[in-house]
Amino acid sequence: MSDAGRPIRRLFVANRGEIAVRIVDACRVLEIESVVGVSDADRDTMAARLANRSVCIGPAKAAESYLRKEAIVAAALGTGCDAVHPGYGFLSERSEFRRYCDEHRLTFVGPSAAAMEALGDKLSARHIAEKLGLPTVPGADNVRSPEDARRFGESAGYPFLLKASAGGGGRGMRIVRSAKDADAAYNGASAEALAAFGDATLYIERYIERARHIEVQVLGDGQGNVIHLGERDCSTQRRHQKLIEEGPSPVLGEHDRVRMAADAVRLATHVQYKGAGTVEFILDLDSKCYYFLEMNTRIQVEHPVTEMITRRDLVAEMILIAGGAPLSFSQADVVTQGHAIECRINAEDFRSDFRPSPGQLTKWQIPTGPGIRVDSHCYAGYRVPPFYDSMIAKVIVLGSDRTDAIEKMKLALDNFLVEGVKTTIPFHQLVLSHPDFTDSRVTTQWVESVFLSTTTTSPDAS
Ligand code: ADP
Ligand code: ADP
Ligand code: MG
Repeated sequence: MSDAGRPIRRLFVANRGEIAVRIVDACRVLEIESVVGVSDADRDTMAARLANRSVCIGPAKAAESYLRKEAIVAAALGTGCDAVHPGYGFLSERSEFRRYCDEHRLTFVGPSAAAMEALGDKLSARHIAEKLGLPTVPGADNVRSPEDARRFGESAGYPFLLKASAGGGGRGMRIVRSAKDADAAYNGASAEALAAFGDATLYIERYIERARHIEVQVLGDGQGNVIHLGERDCSTQRRHQKLIEEGPSPVLGEHDRVRMAADAVRLATHVQYKGAGTVEFILDLDSKCYYFLEMNTRIQVEHPVTEMITRRDLVAEMILIAGGAPLSFSQADVVTQGHAIECRINAEDFRSDFRPSPGQLTKWQIPTGPGIRVDSHCYAGYRVPPFYDSMIAKVIVLGSDRTDAIEKMKLALDNFLVEGVKTTIPFHQLVLSHPDFTDSRVTTQWVESVFLSTTTTSPDAS
């Protein structure tokens, strides 16, 4: 079928926002034509302006546009495209979308449906990881009732996490600190998972109180080559969602760095991984052990961190691989240099519990300079729609070391001038100056348990 690979001539971008712009840019570099599918609310977005063509795939509501595989494939075929890039979120990890593309002879930029199924379901991925000898967080499957959860707590102890097997984006997860939490946590996690992912299956992992989130970027060509491009540390999170990412990890020792990368490559190799993927791990700061969390079978939001320190174009590479090319470089060619940091800038008011702040951008002046990169779909006059994720830009900097990168990011954020909507720029400025961040003492809980409870968030303090 189309998976055999044929060079891509015209690519359909099945996504929106900054990642749609990023994919269009990669097409330009590769001299491939691009067509962007937009919802009614995204007709005037930057990707539509930059692509060779844009076509409307439906109303603003994602369920009627970006999540409708029939509309996307019809638009791709109707505009003469031979391939589809799914970006992240939306349909990017849905194997039925990949199969549907295959049926219509559209090359899907990503792994095989079988690989997506084996790794996309978290429980299945956990079993494969265990079989391959990767460390997994102690826990339990077959959690079918609050009683099952309580039984785990009685035998293995509290606290633990109830997690949705189909989960993503930090959803479908509840912490259980004692027996009395079990009912609410079980019912909340399973209902959220069913509503968001159509699958209420839950499993248990021991809750790691003092944790760092560290992940390994991999690339495979489906022709026997799988390599890694080092790790990213994404421990600055709120509600299990990443806010700041950096690479290399400032807390990972050399021995674990080598082991973790080898673990990631072993997992990807097992499923003959094709394209860009990320193997996520959690590092327990108390026991110093790390464990496999999940694999994301797509390009990730924070991929520019890796692009900066390796000077490689991950999006171009995944498009070439989908077109049948072998990896254009080897493990020995991957050399990391310096330290990169990414701040996700959201149209949100962090002083009001990160409430979304859509609206028109009356001023939009992005920072420039050596080692500063801004990935965004916005421009002065652009109206940030209320319907989607609130991320409006990613600022990425490359410094000679971590201290230099932090200083560069502070300068970049000072020079990022946005008016018309509230943004999380002030949040990032405060975090970057906080000694816990500069000394790399943050854990995945730090933003909520330390930073937000000790930082004055009244508007007067800005
Ligand atoms: P990354 O590690 O790339 O940042 P995230 O988990 O933050 O990945 O997800 C990236 C985007 O995809 C976010 O907009 C998130 O809300 C969305 N997302 C992730 N998983 C899912 C899912 N299973 N269903 C719908 N949206 C998802
Ligand atoms: P998602 O699919 O939503 O990205 P993950 O399994 O990758 O789910 O977990 C997201 C985040 O939730 C992690 O980065 C971490 O902060 C937290 N988390 C997940 N599992 C655990 C655990 N066992 N103990 C502590 N924190 C966890
Ligand atoms: Mg994750």
